[in-house]
Amino acid sequence: MTNVVGLGQAGAAPSARLRGVLDALVAGADRSALVRADPVELVHRYTDPHDQEVAGYLVAALAYGRVTSIKAAAARLLDALGPSPARAVDGGRRAKKLEGFVYRFQRGEDLPRLAAALGRVRRRHGSLAAAFAHHDRGEPRYDAAMARFIGELRAAAGPSPSRGLLFLLPDPGSGGAAKRLCLYLRWMIRPADGLDLGAWQALAPGLSPAKLVIPLDTHIARLARHLALTDRRADDLVTALQITEALATLAPTDPLVYDMALCHLGISGQCPRQRDPILCQGCAIRSVCRLGPEPPGWPP
Ligand code: SF4
Repeated sequence: MTNVVGLGQAGAAPSARLRGVLDALVAGADRSALVRADPVELVHRYTDPHDQEVAGYLVAALAYGRVTSIKAAAARLLDALGPSPARAVDGGRRAKKLEGFVYRFQRGEDLPRLAAALGRVRRRHGSLAAAFAHHDRGEPRYDAAMARFIGELRAAAGPSPSRGLLFLLPDPGSGGAAKRLCLYLRWMIRPADGLDLGAWQALAPGLSPAKLVIPLDTHIARLARHLALTDRRADDLVTALQITEALATLAPTDPLVYDMALCHLGISGQCPRQRDPILCQGCAIRSVCRLGPEPPGWPP
């Protein structure tokens, strides 16, 4: 494995210092505001874990592009499915209402075929959670189980899938970071904490947050490099795993506990690519950012 680098600035206990700073970031986060600024807000509409797992998959699958566009498209999609997304995909009838749904790369039959595939896999296993658990063979992280789970969903989606449909079923076996799938699993498997939902804690209790892989997008990649959690330049699955391993040294049973607060530091536009006297001045994690010592005249 690629070297997991310094975990913060030099010091007697750099990981303890980094852990302290990140714990404070999470503790100080306005969870309601984070949720309002995130597509997961739409999944919080539902209380039944079956509805949460279906709505969550569909929302996460569309989670690319601007947050406002994602939320508008996902809300349109969920509205079309009616009050129970799980019943809609299981029965297959309301899923037809998605015909013609268009969002960026998706056209025509892509969403109806995805919804039908979710329904088929749910009928086979009882839930997507049970399907995922079926593909867990005890590896230390879920990347291999994710590839097998997506393989089953792709098979259930039928032959000759369009590129738009395949994009909704991201395969970590290809080496990509599969960010939207990792995001979905975080929503489902981490315990309910006001951000994530913990829906699969009820549907497949053996699944563990300790085995999740961080959803690697440009924001997390940048922050992780600033914090020396990775020494890799590619935004791929290997980098996602390296960052996850680094975070697991800080929080072994729940390495993704820091993900949402860190990610929104990037989404908010607060964290630049290089030190910025204005933007960095109020940064909560400035003391462990490795962009170099503070230059003369740096604001106190
Ligand atoms: S100090 Fe600046 S560059 Fe470093 S994490 Fe904070 S906002 Fe980003």
